[in-house]
Amino acid sequence: MDENLLPERITLRQPDDWHVHLRDGDVLKTVVPYTARTFRRAIVMPNLSPPITSLRSAIEYRDRILTAVPMGIEFTPLMTVYLTDNISSKILEEGKNSGVFAAAKLYPANSTTNSGMGVTNVKAIYPLFETMERIGLPLLIHGEVTDLDVDIFDREAVFIDKILQPLLKKFPSLRVVLEHITTEQAVDFVGTNRCNLAATITPHHLHINRNAMFLGGLRSDFYCLPVAKRERHRLALRRAAVSGKPCFFIGTDSAPHLRNAKETSCGCAGIFNSPNALESYAEVFHQEGALQRLEAFVSEYGPSFYGLPLNTNSITLVRETHFIPQSCQLDSDKQSAESLVPFHAGEPLSWRVLRD
Ligand SMILES: [Zn+2]
Repeated sequence: MDENLLPERITLRQPDDWHVHLRDGDVLKTVVPYTARTFRRAIVMPNLSPPITSLRSAIEYRDRILTAVPMGIEFTPLMTVYLTDNISSKILEEGKNSGVFAAAKLYPANSTTNSGMGVTNVKAIYPLFETMERIGLPLLIHGEVTDLDVDIFDREAVFIDKILQPLLKKFPSLRVVLEHITTEQAVDFVGTNRCNLAATITPHHLHINRNAMFLGGLRSDFYCLPVAKRERHRLALRRAAVSGKPCFFIGTDSAPHLRNAKETSCGCAGIFNSPNALESYAEVFHQEGALQRLEAFVSEYGPSFYGLPLNTNSITLVRETHFIPQSCQLDSDKQSAESLVPFHAGEPLSWRVLRD
């Protein structure tokens, strides 16, 4: 590609983030501004401890998020409810009718961070999907089986065969998002399926393969779930992202964990990418010669799938190599030396969001 033919700046309709972890407490105060400065809306994951399982807890969490949004910035958190073995259809209806729940999230029990209260048997909550299908509440899925006898690198593909296929067959009108896909099996399955099935793709799964976790030692900053896979899967994800197919759209899965929770004998899964998420996607689309399709991926396909209006304001990216800081200090009242390590720490990116 001739670099000289590239524009110096690109202006996009403001994007949304269709999958983010904003956490709580001091971490929430630190990370919300990063998301809110770039994205107009975000689908907020409910896996707090304890998780968001009621209308009241979702409203209270939304209030805590809004308190952390910097002055003068418009940002709408779209709340999700955490499905458990025992949650009632009534709660889902109540949350949807009140306009608070934008979607419900299915975590197979023990599949990832704070999923201990997740669903132990997906078939047993089929009555909930019946309700969701009827009231139009989308189902967001962490698509991995949790059987310890299934290899960790195969858990997404096995989930598609054993859990997702029968579920889609049983509920043909249910809108489903297979979140943060990591395999070519997921790309093929979603890309050739019905129009009410979509997938989000994270920036990190477009940039790294599983070798990143072992480069010169054990690199916890690149450990996330679903875990990064082989190179051929990364390439399939890149093709999907730039394909112009509306069933593939942005969802950063930015998932901050404090340094000491990453660097320990049992480090947490999650990559914190919100400070530079849009730039990170732009890098991929640039490398793939597909910058003209970035806007649809980050700003159009998501709202269309969710049945929400497109944003009307815009954001500008300038072509300017800049280095990502090694860490972000926590915004804390206490004298805390805690930090978060952002994705691409210490690396250059070629596009930068223009801030006023
Ligand atoms: Zn997530």
